[in-house]
Amino acid sequence: MRDWLAIRARATPASTAVVDAASGRSTSYGDLDDEVEHLAGQLSAFGVGVDDHLGVLAETRPGFVRLVHAANRLGAVLVPLNVRLTARELDGTLDAADVDTLICTAETEPTATEAFDGPLATVDQPSEGARPLSTIDPESFELGSWTRDCTAALLATSGTTGGPKLVELTMGNLAASAAASSWRLGVLPDDRWYCTLPMYHMGGLAPVYRSVLYGTSVAVSTGSFDPEGSLAEMDRVGATATSLVPTMCRELLEADGEAVMASLRFVLVGGAPTPDSLVETAREADVSLYPSYGMTETSSQIATASPTQTREALGTVGSPLMFTRVTTVDSDDVPVEPGASGEIVVSGPTVTPGYYDDAEATEDAFGPHGFHTGDAGYRDESGKLWVLNRLTDRIITGGENVDPGEVVDVLRDYPDVEDAFVAGVPDDRFGQRVAALLVGPDSAEPVEQFARDRLAGFKIPRQWRLVDALPRTASGTVDRAAATLLLEEPDT
Ligand code: ATP
Ligand code: MG
Repeated sequence: MRDWLAIRARATPASTAVVDAASGRSTSYGDLDDEVEHLAGQLSAFGVGVDDHLGVLAETRPGFVRLVHAANRLGAVLVPLNVRLTARELDGTLDAADVDTLICTAETEPTATEAFDGPLATVDQPSEGARPLSTIDPESFELGSWTRDCTAALLATSGTTGGPKLVELTMGNLAASAAASSWRLGVLPDDRWYCTLPMYHMGGLAPVYRSVLYGTSVAVSTGSFDPEGSLAEMDRVGATATSLVPTMCRELLEADGEAVMASLRFVLVGGAPTPDSLVETAREADVSLYPSYGMTETSSQIATASPTQTREALGTVGSPLMFTRVTTVDSDDVPVEPGASGEIVVSGPTVTPGYYDDAEATEDAFGPHGFHTGDAGYRDESGKLWVLNRLTDRIITGGENVDPGEVVDVLRDYPDVEDAFVAGVPDDRFGQRVAALLVGPDSAEPVEQFARDRLAGFKIPRQWRLVDALPRTASGTVDRAAATLLLEEPDT
């Protein structure tokens, strides 16, 4: 059996597959299929075969889509790598993922050369030692086998809670995720998905798999996110949908983007909590916002809320997607009642079989009800889910438990506070003390007073620092390790 791009190209060869958002140039499914066949032949000639690990160190760009499908066609395992890693970090990830061959771009070639000793090719003109793919003649190749359980990709988690873990995702995981997510959102064949999220994260990669399943198109931006540029591109290419992290969504709305954003059929946000204020701003601007919750280990979305659901229940991430079962459990793995908080545990066809080459981490992550997300949350009677915070984030100060998410919510309610971060820092007397970073206000004093009126004394931060912005990972989640370091540094 051939891959899903081949099947799609046979079904709807003339419909648009990929649009280069910068130039507006579009490629049909028939042409994309031919280009991918050519690229797969070149990669094969470069030594990539069935089950080989093909690293891709590239920023988001239209050509990324071709590499994803070429890896699939060859039956190779795609290993998309974060372009923001230093050479040292990249070296570690390449090693852990057993990458056999690496593809880079002009931008990433210096880091790739420094970190990787194996065969290195570039999709651009080379500046150092990489072989330009354009100089390789394609050869005929063996097709990959297409079964549900074959590994399609290894993706590193954001590494917000320690080093990155390599998540194994199967063809079955990706197909189930594409189908369930499209059904939830009501994707239509003429939808055009604007892609600006990094494609080395699941949230950025998901639209590619969704598009080929339904024959929709992706309009792919190039390089890093810039609000004005993105609004112009979405408008120019006639985008009907996009996925963003909440911060990007806010920036687009603030850049006078209400009209463009309201013209989209849906805006999927996820990767980090969606602030209530963003839900409300979107509603006022008539933007169809779909807050979602998910992670690499579940091939992106677990649950997604429609605008109607958030209208009825602010803050919810909605009900689980089709085929996905969510259970909230206590520390003994016993399911808790609706309304009570517990760890969110997930099972279903989008859930990873485990971490690559790490039986111990895999065993730790699975329990009788499925995959342990490490996130705390609760459900209501109708099954809608709320995400509270990561279990590992809980602060214990003088024997009292403090949920940093609860404190952040209160701090964010103060008018001048644009963003806030709360964590525990070591304290000789209390074990940990509550500390906060604030973005926005000129002084912490009125914010502290505001918090005192709303929270128990032990929850009030003992230490404050004003910063210009919170450090974030490429996926938009607050980089807790970096933010905690800022808290520990003396204020200047
Ligand atoms: P690591 O596991 O290495 O620490 P990570 O968990 O940040 O990294 P991702 O898989 O990119 O890596 O992110 C998934 C996590 O992001 C979830 O487990 C959850 O903590 C957080 N998250 C995603 N969506 C939401 C949401 N809607 N609300 C709250 N948290 C969210
Ligand atoms: Mg995680």
